[in-house]
Amino acid sequence: MKLKNTLFAGIAAVAGASALLASNMAFAQKDWPTKSIQLVVPFAAGGPTDTIARLIAVPMGQSLGQTVVVENVPGAGGTIASTKVARAAPDGYTIYIHHMGMATANALYDKLPYDPMTSFEYIGQVADVPMVLLGKKDLPANNFKELEAYIKANGSKVTMANAGPGAVSQLCGLLFQSRLGVKLTNIPYKGTGPALTDLLGGQVDLLCDQTTQTIPYIKDGRVKAFGTTTMKRLPAIPNVPTLNEQGLKGFEVKVWHGVYAPKGVPQPVLDKINAALKKALNTPDVRKRLEDSNIDIVPMDKVSAKGLKSHLESEINVWGPVIRKSNIPD
Ligand code: ASP
Repeated sequence: MKLKNTLFAGIAAVAGASALLASNMAFAQKDWPTKSIQLVVPFAAGGPTDTIARLIAVPMGQSLGQTVVVENVPGAGGTIASTKVARAAPDGYTIYIHHMGMATANALYDKLPYDPMTSFEYIGQVADVPMVLLGKKDLPANNFKELEAYIKANGSKVTMANAGPGAVSQLCGLLFQSRLGVKLTNIPYKGTGPALTDLLGGQVDLLCDQTTQTIPYIKDGRVKAFGTTTMKRLPAIPNVPTLNEQGLKGFEVKVWHGVYAPKGVPQPVLDKINAALKKALNTPDVRKRLEDSNIDIVPMDKVSAKGLKSHLESEINVWGPVIRKSNIPD
């Protein structure tokens, strides 16, 4: 009897505690957010991912009624940040923006402490960003043909910056080198923000970077643009030919981005984040800033968990075999 009573008391206490927990959680979800939200960026400040993050952080914060603070967690091509986010509390106060590196990491790294398909909640796709092959201003080559000749003559003396294994600048750079049949000296940075600073300063020769913050430097001649990674020329820089039209047939890289949260964030909170993201992408200032850099904002139905998750899955299937076959070095 005593045992029975104790058992009943125990069950009642557990039921009471879980009812309290459930009502606390419901309350927390209803009131969320009550403090600032951290938006993790897997590359250094000043780069393309950071730029998009800062652009959406302000309007997202305005619609959520709390500041969205960007936190740069660079290193290992974004996998350090992905690990941090996968392990963060699923309370909606940590969210994450990453590009297609989310789909390539599995094939590039032997063991990841997270699984891109199961460790996250998916909030939505954001934007697709073209890339440009850039050279430092005083590089002797003035066009793609001259660049090819310069590279053939100088081989590994030519340096090419990237943002580490898994960064799109690295993939683009390696794709370029393999199409030319050359091996340059590849120099990793914590993001293409600092890599671009060194290109502008003349410390490194080449960089394949996104258009997000490179267009003004191309327009005012502070860097040389040898070709875009798109099939059509970009309206913002119509004088820059595509790599495709200059002989690198089919050389196309567009960098897609997505917003994530740790696995287990309650659905009502995810819905609020998704609504704020959609609203941010429809803000006239954000649209103009992205359009000026020839960045495509994705259709709104892709700014959804379903849109992002299915795109991620198909990209993992595309990139996995390509990377495994190409033996990309660390
Ligand atoms: N997008 C990265 C950055 O923001 C660079 C990269 O992936 O190459 O720096």
